[in-house]
Amino acid sequence: LQAQLRRTERVAELGTVASGMAHEIGTPMNVILGRAEYLMERTKEEPVRKGLQTIISQVERITRVMNQLLAFARRRPVEHRALDLHQIVEDNLEIFQERLSHSHITVETSFAEACPLVRADADQMSQVLINLVMNAIHAMPGGGVLKVALAPATDRGMVMLVIGDTGHGMPKDVIAKIFDPFFTTKEFGKGTGLGLTVVRGIIEEHGGTIQVESEPGVGTVFTICLPIQVDPGQKS
Ligand code: ADP
Repeated sequence: LQAQLRRTERVAELGTVASGMAHEIGTPMNVILGRAEYLMERTKEEPVRKGLQTIISQVERITRVMNQLLAFARRRPVEHRALDLHQIVEDNLEIFQERLSHSHITVETSFAEACPLVRADADQMSQVLINLVMNAIHAMPGGGVLKVALAPATDRGMVMLVIGDTGHGMPKDVIAKIFDPFFTTKEFGKGTGLGLTVVRGIIEEHGGTIQVESEPGVGTVFTICLPIQVDPGQKS
């Protein structure tokens, strides 16, 4: 319990710091990125281009961590709407289309017809999908299959979203820690260990649940259940 309290305190502190720093760091980072890209367009000299490329990729790395921290802080209150998850899923898969085919990952979708609307925040649902799909891509460096399914689980007044991959999977001791803040198995600079913490936070804030099944060498399946919108006309 003591450890859990310390973690909660640390997370709360991090949220405050992240929000405060995002602007201070984000603005100069954008300027650096802009200038580096500008110079890149103007030079054909290979050693200079290489140096600029390093600057660009390192700035992108900082921005990535910053964005994760910000998503983690999530100061914006949740805006629940009657949401068509199917549309959100399609939109986000489209964003990843190029990346997926480049990584030799095929997408298998199964969308149940007439899936009820859920009560959710569109931006936060996108964040959930982005984090899960990114992890799936990372888990399949040699290619594979990304499975996305959406179906009503009406008996519980929920909609079920399943995201599975045929990647490297996880042993039990890793599974036990994946939702912990800062837990990552990715090499330094590649992972923040905040992606799934954010995902779980968002899902729980929506009154939903998230479960994971994984087997080393076989793959991983995340199953999310979200409450359906009872009165579609009502906004809160
Ligand atoms: P990060 O991606 O920055 O490491 P996450 O919180 O998103 O942080 O994930 C934590 C860890 O969970 C990852 O480092 C990885 O070990 C494991 N993980 C998450 N998703 C998958 C997946 N689809 N397949 C295998 N391992 C995964």
